[in-house]
Amino acid sequence: MPELKSIRLEGAGFAADNLVLPFQIEALGLRGRAVRLGAEVDAILNRHDYPAPVARMLGEALALTALLAAALKYDGIFTLQIQSDGPISLLVADVTSDGHMRGYAQFDQGRFEAAVKQGAVERSVPRLLGAGHLAFTVDQGSVMERYQGIVELTGATLADCVHTYFRDSEQIETCLKTACDRIDLPSGGPDAPQGWRAGGLMLQRIPDEGGIAQTDMPTEEEAEDGWRRAVILTGSAADAEVLDPTLPAENLLYRLYHEDGVRVFERRELIDRCRCSRERVDSVLRGQPRAELDDMKEPDGRVVVTCQFCNRSYGYDDSDLDALQSAED
Ligand SMILES: [Zn+2]
Repeated sequence: MPELKSIRLEGAGFAADNLVLPFQIEALGLRGRAVRLGAEVDAILNRHDYPAPVARMLGEALALTALLAAALKYDGIFTLQIQSDGPISLLVADVTSDGHMRGYAQFDQGRFEAAVKQGAVERSVPRLLGAGHLAFTVDQGSVMERYQGIVELTGATLADCVHTYFRDSEQIETCLKTACDRIDLPSGGPDAPQGWRAGGLMLQRIPDEGGIAQTDMPTEEEAEDGWRRAVILTGSAADAEVLDPTLPAENLLYRLYHEDGVRVFERRELIDRCRCSRERVDSVLRGQPRAELDDMKEPDGRVVVTCQFCNRSYGYDDSDLDALQSAED
């Protein structure tokens, strides 16, 4: 893998987007990942009509999910789920090992408006989510075990809550930075990436797994100093830098860590893609008694099932419902 110098911009002057970029700061024995989300997170957030603070919370959750999933070796679905008693009662984001992402939030408009009146809600876990739990699940199919980590929501931001999880449950020193915002470039031209963007950085101090040569390992004191320095540098990255569509992720890493030397690995693509389908909805409806399905009918006489993740609607008229029932026989 090449030592990082700096990377030229791709395309029409804008950096590659919608990716996870793994990296190492070998001199300090640190592993990290950077996440950049542009058009894909914009599509996910625009599909829902969330108030901006709720959209931002989901955007950060999507960036965190991509950062955490990239740290695991798995073949299946990684899910981050938060259930809480605040204005936002549910936040779900998942990413498959192929990089297909999706997510949604459930919130109460009245309670959200009341929280806004009480004070700053932006990125605030206590004000928007309240008390609850954050859980991670890795689903590798029916034959494999589900891994689940769960932690109480403690922290001002989502990144703080995940940091607490690694400190208390995994005993892994972790440094996290996430951001999500709407970017509207005034003079960006028709090709300029506008709209929602999300991104993040994650650094971990992980015992040698064979990837870093033993002879290059720092002494304990050097490692301690190096870790503190890397944490300060990561924290020094402004939200605007983490989100900047004209600053490639590689260049951001170089800007932050170049004194210690940073090495990047192959980037992986992140794609806005839901896993819902007509077949899946069919199988859910097939298990319901016909009377209950009839109760679900809209004024036009159809049963309409809407995917909470992507808002796609699946409609069933009487003949569709009859066909489902006869398929059961
Ligand atoms: Zn869907």
